[in-house]
Amino acid sequence: MRHVGLFGGSFDPVHVGHLRAALEVVEQLGLDELRFIPCAHSPGKPPPRASGSLRRQWLELAISDRPGWVMDGRELERDGVSYTVETLEEIRQEEPESRPYWIIGSDAFSNLHRWREPDRLGQLAHWIVLLRPGFPVVLPAEAPRWCSSGRTDDPARLRQDPAGGVLYLPVTPFGISATAIRDRIRRGAALDYLVPASLQAALERAGCYDAP
Ligand code: ATP
Repeated sequence: MRHVGLFGGSFDPVHVGHLRAALEVVEQLGLDELRFIPCAHSPGKPPPRASGSLRRQWLELAISDRPGWVMDGRELERDGVSYTVETLEEIRQEEPESRPYWIIGSDAFSNLHRWREPDRLGQLAHWIVLLRPGFPVVLPAEAPRWCSSGRTDDPARLRQDPAGGVLYLPVTPFGISATAIRDRIRRGAALDYLVPASLQAALERAGCYDAP
């Protein structure tokens, strides 16, 4: 059984908040592999500013020195609105020997009831919730039942069950977002220590963040 972390998002662009949190998930859960899955178009958000191919290139560059970390371009290739339920169904079918752990920020987790087929999502993966500064998990009454019934603080428990576990993970807090990075690029402000050094020049000359 391979334990595989799946980190979905816009990554418009990837930043150290994503990367550091990902590393801590891998360490704390002892994952065998970590996949970044950039979306084509997230249902609840305006389309990403950078093209799929740029976001993919930046991710590839950002993770190139980490064995076991890979880019999974399936949502970009599928195109259109990216639904996590479709992505997970595909992965489960293709890889019955993998155990998936979907990694998600606390802001997004609180809105899971708005996603497509929220009940099904809990049958397809374990859910690792990154506690993001300023975004406590607030589960509304409409939240799927598994979001609370699956809660555990014990990573070992997730290894016993195929799916439906929910682990809140306190990661080193980085109060940054891709929105803030895009804003800095537009203003010509320094990106040092907020994105990997290998990406800085490419982000500064990308041009796609120049207009407000
Ligand atoms: P935007 O500002 O464009 O909305 P974002 O920085 O929130 O973007 P996404 O690419 O949409 O980033 O995020 C992918 C996932 O990573 C989401 O589940 C999000 O909650 C989580 N995430 C983003 N930034 C952080 C951070 N600083 N710490 C922990 N998790 C984060």
